[in-house]
Amino acid sequence: MKRLAAASAGAALLGSVVLSGCAAFTDDSATSADGVQVAAAFYPLQYVADRVAGGHADVENLTAPGGEPHDLELTPKETADVAGADLVLYQRGFQPSVDDAVDENATGDTLDVADLVDLVPFRDHGVDSDELDPHFWQDPVLLADVGDAVAKQLAKVDPDHADDYTANAADLRSDLEQLDQEYQAGLTGCERSTVVVSHDAFGYLQRYGITMEAILGLSPDAEPTPADLARLEKLIQEDGVTTVFSESLVSPETAEQLAHDTGVTSAVLDPIEGLTDETADEDYLSLMRSNLSALEEANGC
Ligand SMILES: [Zn+2]
Repeated sequence: MKRLAAASAGAALLGSVVLSGCAAFTDDSATSADGVQVAAAFYPLQYVADRVAGGHADVENLTAPGGEPHDLELTPKETADVAGADLVLYQRGFQPSVDDAVDENATGDTLDVADLVDLVPFRDHGVDSDELDPHFWQDPVLLADVGDAVAKQLAKVDPDHADDYTANAADLRSDLEQLDQEYQAGLTGCERSTVVVSHDAFGYLQRYGITMEAILGLSPDAEPTPADLARLEKLIQEDGVTTVFSESLVSPETAEQLAHDTGVTSAVLDPIEGLTDETADEDYLSLMRSNLSALEEANGC
């Protein structure tokens, strides 16, 4: 309990100490030589936190592998992770249950990605909705900005390793800028620009000159109407689309049926909302590169 003495507002924080356990408790002014705890709301944020922490922190992903982050419900264990974290990295508006846990349980620092990144309305991605498109991690450059912010925040929580956090964020940025250049080069001069995907998770890729058309709309749980499907069938024919993409965390049935009905191929494009058993050995960079190859193949780039 030594670190508690450093808490300037110790009395006010006693309640949360009881809740989260002493081991997980740190105040902003305290150092955390015995382990910084980070709770990251879903996989791309976990990837960034892991890269920037570089072994100086335990990073917990609040969205269990194989789970779909939209409409996540936190378990008591995950709520305790939020309560005990020195830093919670999350995206307000994307996962209401994480927003609630942050408001009600977080005792450490919180970093809201929606404050760091200029999220674009779905409408600007050609989708009929005024909601903000949360899938910003499809743009590697935006993810690099999150890395820099995480480094600053970790340096505040754990000043002893500040230089490492800064260097790790710079390494991450260089990898992500390299990936951005691969996307720019890879998707230049394609025969086709239309890409048919499962749900509207890829709008941020449109800055590379491709146009996304989703079967399921905003949420992977939605059902397409017969009119939606008829419109897509027409589009596939008119635009010479070769491939209908399904994704890894939702059932491929609808996408495969549409591909079958229109006589085109079906393939997987991973929205990288989370890892599965099948992608457990992959990471953000390798999945983004698989997606790029699949897009190049489908669109004749
Ligand atoms: Zn999504």
